[in-house]
Amino acid sequence: MKQIIIHVDMDAFYASVEVRDDPSLAGKPLIIGALPTERGVVATCSYEARKYGVHSAMNIKEAYRRCPHGVYMHPNFEKYRAVSEQLRKIWYDYAVKMEPIALDEAYLDVTYSAGDFERAGEMAREIKARTRKELGLTCSVGVAYSKTAAKTASEEKKPDGYFEIRTAEDFVKLMIDRDVKSLYTVGAKTAEKLNRIGIYTVRDIRERKDEILERFGKHGQLITELSFGIDDRKVIEYKPEDAKSLSREVTFQEDTENYRMLDDVLVLLALSVEDRATTACSTTCWCCWHFRSKTGQGGTVFTERASRSS
Ligand SMILES: [Mg+2]
Repeated sequence: MKQIIIHVDMDAFYASVEVRDDPSLAGKPLIIGALPTERGVVATCSYEARKYGVHSAMNIKEAYRRCPHGVYMHPNFEKYRAVSEQLRKIWYDYAVKMEPIALDEAYLDVTYSAGDFERAGEMAREIKARTRKELGLTCSVGVAYSKTAAKTASEEKKPDGYFEIRTAEDFVKLMIDRDVKSLYTVGAKTAEKLNRIGIYTVRDIRERKDEILERFGKHGQLITELSFGIDDRKVIEYKPEDAKSLSREVTFQEDTENYRMLDDVLVLLALSVEDRATTACSTTCWCCWHFRSKTGQGGTVFTERASRSS
């Protein structure tokens, strides 16, 4: 049987939780992370703030320059985690298997619980309605035949969106004239490499797939398969007791050599991971800083221990 996958992604999650709990923040550009008087970065921000060009992982001073009238506040991970647990309870009412990607995002395997796309679509709408009614929050939901297509679908009508991609043909139809970057796993660096050899759209990838396979190896295979809508990855059930590691990552929109800023981002990510690690009964966690250099090589610059005594 073909897979039916739902991808749920909360809209501006941290910011939406704060607005829900303090309605006087509604409609204001809300920036969660460091305060403008501190060193640090933006963890997330409301859609109103995004209009000013503020985005996740931006230096807080830069955010302040772009949006001086914004409301700035520290994140409250404990609260977001509690909301996340409530969300997962709702999601589990529909999914046979659930794979959380972050506090606010997960893949749900509804292949057997839904049986067909009609019912999967109803489930997705129920999830949206219950999230609004029970938690006072909105989410965007994609229903599709694969994980990549489901994630693409949930992005398609954000915020408060709903979209379906039932077949690989539908996926290709939607994506074919889009920028290569719109394909999952094609980041800024890969896009640049593709552009350099005259490949700009998903159509170009399809037409020159042999060349891409040759030049880009394993990643090339993934990219070319995706350009044809092929993705057989399964939803992998998350069991906290099986977790050997927890991670959080962020991708910068531009390359940076600003190590003070990187340090600030690391602390923010470390705090978030530490919070999850504490829930998973660990008392310490190690944070590794993986990077990708200009030449495309990856590595780990340093590790830092963020510990919390139990
Ligand atoms: Mg989200």
